[in-house]
Amino acid sequence: MSATRAGATRTLAIANQKGGVGKTTTAINLGTALASVGERVLVIDLDPQGNASTGLGIDIESRPKTSYDVLIGGTGLLECAQPTAVPGLYVVPANSDLVGIEAELTDANRPFRLRDAVSALVARQRTLPPEQTFAYVLIDCPPSLNLLTLNALSAANAVLVPVQCEFFALEGISQLKESIDQIRATLNPTLEIQGVVLTMHDARTSLSKEVADNVRAFFGPKVYETIIPRNTRVAEAPSHGKPILLYDFDCAGSQAYIKLATEIIERERRNQAA
Ligand code: ADP
Ligand code: MG
Repeated sequence: MSATRAGATRTLAIANQKGGVGKTTTAINLGTALASVGERVLVIDLDPQGNASTGLGIDIESRPKTSYDVLIGGTGLLECAQPTAVPGLYVVPANSDLVGIEAELTDANRPFRLRDAVSALVARQRTLPPEQTFAYVLIDCPPSLNLLTLNALSAANAVLVPVQCEFFALEGISQLKESIDQIRATLNPTLEIQGVVLTMHDARTSLSKEVADNVRAFFGPKVYETIIPRNTRVAEAPSHGKPILLYDFDCAGSQAYIKLATEIIERERRNQAA
């Protein structure tokens, strides 16, 4: 049984305009963890680097339809979605075609292309049996607040913000928070922050602890209890085209992503009940 209401799909944008904070790693591994506890998940790769696609085992040559086709051509998400090695986990891949999107999309509807595609998916799912519908859509954003990220934030119900436990972690975070407020005031009035996830935490350093404390002071209960540890196995997995749960199920990184998935499902349940 899915944790979400039958037919209800939650769309989460994984966003932070800083690069290298763990957005893609979280898209891949949270997606896998959610699927492993029985949720059907669609990851939409919205980064021209296509790292989420590669990390989920989709070769660059095997991406006949990508998120570019969704944004430019109005191709349906289901037509672009590819299965992965994880049962219940699908990906709409990306490639460098996305680089040109700012220049190619010039109409007034340009920030809403993905929102319209997600709405069409949700409408189509109402006609499908529950076991064929997606409980979660996770959008892996590029490292900037560009048109692609605007599309993700317009399409999303909520944002999931990975924050790396390093010295400059909070730099840019207030800017991201302002941007989310601005988008709520304009493009997407119901956008929320689902939560903030601390990534690449090193329990041996006082710096990691200090950053974690600062992020908790800034975001309060929005910060998940689960902290993703710095773990070399997590960094190795993408070069094998595998999520960490398939690469090394028992490592600390895998277990942390499972815990995060459970916490997110729990938060969604509470929100729905409220
Ligand atoms: P972003 O998508 O925000 O740019 P990535 O998810 O690509 O960030 O992560 C940046 C780098 O850090 C990658 O090389 C990734 O493998 C590595 N990384 C991410 N999370 C972890 C972790 N928990 N432990 C170790 N390395 C990690
Ligand atoms: Mg990335």
